[in-house]
Amino acid sequence: MRSPVTAYIGLGANLGDPVATLVQAMDDVAALSGVTLVRRSSLYRSAPVASIGPDYVNAVVEIRTVLTAPALLASLQQLEQLAGRARPYRNAPRTLDLDVLMYGHASIDSEALVVPHPRMRERAFVLVPLAEIAPHSVTAAQLQAVQSQFIERL
Ligand code: ADP
Ligand code: MG
Repeated sequence: MRSPVTAYIGLGANLGDPVATLVQAMDDVAALSGVTLVRRSSLYRSAPVASIGPDYVNAVVEIRTVLTAPALLASLQQLEQLAGRARPYRNAPRTLDLDVLMYGHASIDSEALVVPHPRMRERAFVLVPLAEIAPHSVTAAQLQAVQSQFIERL
């Protein structure tokens, strides 16, 4: 048995009923085989970044998992599919987006998976909920750098 790794998952939705989608998605992550949910952030509303459409609802969860990083991504992508996500084009509005933000201290750079998530430090909708549940992993300077991006706690 692999020993569990602490990982952080970013959740976002901006179509349909994004609050209900995110609450369901957090429960679905908690129910994944090989995953224990440790902490969930509040829900936040954010304006789309490099995207269009309605505001997003975002959150971050901390998990402990015995899944490998690729297996974790595959499980998350199944949940995206269950939520009815289509990928008509890059950065299209989506019913549910689940990203692996960090996986232990691993650095991964494969075609399918880049960890830590390469754009997470530029995004208030990741850093603000992450700072809520894992303050040690976000610096004041990083939060300062994204403070012009609209985000509010729901
Ligand atoms: P984004 O999340 O950047 O808006 P998508 O959710 O459509 O875009 O993801 C596109 C691809 O990104 C996925 O097929 C996945 O293989 C890849 N990917 C690379 N690194 C990650 C990661 N850390 N978390 C989630 N997906 C990732
Ligand atoms: Mg994604």
